Amino acid sequence: MILKGTPVSPGFASGSARALVARKLAIPRYVVPEKEREAEAERLCLAIEATTKELESAKEALRGKVEPSLLDLFDAYAVILKDPALLRAARFQISKEGSNAEQALESAIKAMTTALMASQDSYFQEKASDLEDLYSRVQRHLRGAQQETVAPSAEPQVILADNLTPSETGHLHQASVVAFATEHGARTSHTAIIARSLGIPAVVGVAGLMAAAATDQRVIVDGVEGKVILDPTPEEEAEYAKRAEAYRDYRRKIKAGALKEARTIDGHVIRTRANIDLENELQGAIEAGAEGVGLYRSEFLYLERSPNLPTEDDHAALYNRICEALYPHRVTIRTLDLGGEKYFHEVLEPEGQNPVLGVRAVRFTLRHPDIFKVQLRGLLRASARKNIAIMFPLVTTVDELKACISLLNECKAELKAEGVAFDHRIPVGIMVEVPSCALTAEAFLPYTDFFSIGTNDLIQYLMAIDRNNESVASLYDPMNPAVLRCISHVCESARVKGIPVAVCGEMASDALMAPLLVGLGVTELSMAPEALLDVKAAVRGISYEKCRRMARHALKAGTGAEVAEILESYSRTGRHGR
Ligand code: PEP
Ligand code: MG
Repeated sequence: MILKGTPVSPGFASGSARALVARKLAIPRYVVPEKEREAEAERLCLAIEATTKELESAKEALRGKVEPSLLDLFDAYAVILKDPALLRAARFQISKEGSNAEQALESAIKAMTTALMASQDSYFQEKASDLEDLYSRVQRHLRGAQQETVAPSAEPQVILADNLTPSETGHLHQASVVAFATEHGARTSHTAIIARSLGIPAVVGVAGLMAAAATDQRVIVDGVEGKVILDPTPEEEAEYAKRAEAYRDYRRKIKAGALKEARTIDGHVIRTRANIDLENELQGAIEAGAEGVGLYRSEFLYLERSPNLPTEDDHAALYNRICEALYPHRVTIRTLDLGGEKYFHEVLEPEGQNPVLGVRAVRFTLRHPDIFKVQLRGLLRASARKNIAIMFPLVTTVDELKACISLLNECKAELKAEGVAFDHRIPVGIMVEVPSCALTAEAFLPYTDFFSIGTNDLIQYLMAIDRNNESVASLYDPMNPAVLRCISHVCESARVKGIPVAVCGEMASDALMAPLLVGLGVTELSMAPEALLDVKAAVRGISYEKCRRMARHALKAGTGAEVAEILESYSRTGRHGR
């Protein structure tokens, strides 16, 4: 039986299934007599302490097996567990209402999770799932239940589960585990990140997996196409053994080319950079040969400092560290893009009924120049090495861009008067992610040093679909000709002034899209670090001239399906021949 899911860690592996059945603990509910409430609160503290220790041991289990930066996740867990607001809320409920510890913990976590889920942003939703993970751990300790573990075995084991928490992923690795597949989970989940770092193939979101799977059954995990094959035939086993070997060869080859530039077979160079959300992703980006950072999402600094706002020193220190680590490569920092669906900050409140179309990104920062200038000054202070660029998100009109530049100029004048060193010619660019901006790109030329196309938002706004709403996900089509025509228009406009055009949306992380983007005239691809090796390898296999021809053809298509066909036929026949 073949089940489909989302591939999150590439590779192929087969082994004997170990199905982990999640047991949901029932939450007891009772009233604690007044004189026992202090002890009840203490019981909760002890369970939290035991959870902290358990996580510490999970962290140690992973040490030396994954990038050290991934271990920071466990420190982040410890911080959440110590969150005074969480404990205060739970304690209050125990002392004032007499709730038992399990119930008090449940409502305190529920309140936090609801706030995180409401943000609709995958980063926060991920945080919400971290919270759920922590919650069930503490509940387990309150009930004295044991954690499910996998015994080491001489035979390769494939873990099948409803969902895996990052700490479980770490423990499981000790026990001859060769692959994971889960019924739930997302590409951005920490489990997926840890699986990639461990080099274990993984597929998540496999509907029906737990109902179909049984322990000891043979199973193959295809982390490239996102398949889980239960009870494979001998032919399938043989086929996948061959694929696994070929894949290992391919990885060895592309890894060897990590530090070489992405040059097409006819000599056209495409710059490849990394999208970074958190500082600890830098090392992976450097190892994968990123020629700098094409998008640093600075909003995470605001989230870390929440409920306070980061200071100018916070900004300058962070950007300095990144610029130093990547020197002499360019680091493109995007100014604050909170607001709309990305909002979760106690100081900066979301506005409006339809926040994706409301006050977000520069629409927000331009209304709060006091907040904006703190970041701009921090950026300038980190620019003395001359390897930093500023990028403004969600620019809709030329006037907005002019207003941003005018604030930047104010900051420059202030710093100059204060005798602070900075790059007076710091490059300034814009994210092109609103259709109005894409279609009038030429009007922005006098004020911008580069364009960077944010296809995630551009597609959302072009197709009139919420990018986080699964029920309209089928309309989210990067190959729709409307998307291609916008990208092409931006590239053609940029050509007039000879400025670079990057794509920093998810489309750039897809190696299959590389011929199309290169053919449309994109000069730089900025992507999740783990996509770099594959995308570089893809660029090395294409001919620029043939991609140009293919893209011209695709621009005339009427539907996404026609574009897909043109791209498919190019991949089959056009890459090297004709
Ligand atoms: C985009 O919109 O494509 C983009 C890169 O920005 P974000 O995903 O952070 O909105
Ligand atoms: Mg965007």
